[in-house]
Amino acid sequence: MTRIVLATHNEHKVNELRAILAAHPDLTDLPDNAVASASQFDVEPPVEDGITFAQNALIKARALAATTGLIAIADDSGLSVDVLGGAPGIFSARWAGTHGDDQANLNLLLGQLADVPDAHRNAQFVCAAALVTPQGYEHVEEGALRGTLLRAPRGNHGFGYDPILQPAGDTRSCAELTPAEKNTISHRGQAFRALAPVIARVLRTNPHN
Ligand code: IMP
Repeated sequence: MTRIVLATHNEHKVNELRAILAAHPDLTDLPDNAVASASQFDVEPPVEDGITFAQNALIKARALAATTGLIAIADDSGLSVDVLGGAPGIFSARWAGTHGDDQANLNLLLGQLADVPDAHRNAQFVCAAALVTPQGYEHVEEGALRGTLLRAPRGNHGFGYDPILQPAGDTRSCAELTPAEKNTISHRGQAFRALAPVIARVLRTNPHN
């Protein structure tokens, strides 16, 4: 029985959340079908007009909880570059103008930072994960993956800005990590793992939800 719905049409994100929840000691008996993706419901995506990752994650989770009557989880993420005061931030997916044009976004950012020396190329992937229940309980957790920006893309895994962020302490870009390695350290993994005990508590206190 579906009890939790994740605001995404991406099955990889749903599987990542399932695996994280299954690893939590209080959730080991949670069946796989307890977590569903939003594609299984007829939901109109809300306008994401928040000005922070947390606000946008809450907007998506509130809309999903209201339409499905289920415990809803949504994440919102992006790249924040220190020397740009946190930009692209919530504009990460459409930095070059067209939503989801990863190559154009990455090229524009590299051009903007061409004169920035290595010492000032610090940046982080940030993720806010929000949980909203149909009863109106809300909780947000954040995760961050810090690193430095390379001068040219490297690696073929991942998506978005992965080829130009080198995590602190590593010599590879995020796109040179395996998906499992990336999940272990990623901003989204951190935020979802921080949400796991909250989900366990909410399921315990709402046994019929
Ligand atoms: P979303 O909130 O997951 O849709 O992410 C928004 C945008 O942030 C994406 O289109 C990417 O450009 C960027 N982004 C977020 N997370 C990552 C990541 O893990 N790797 C690379 N880019 C990311």
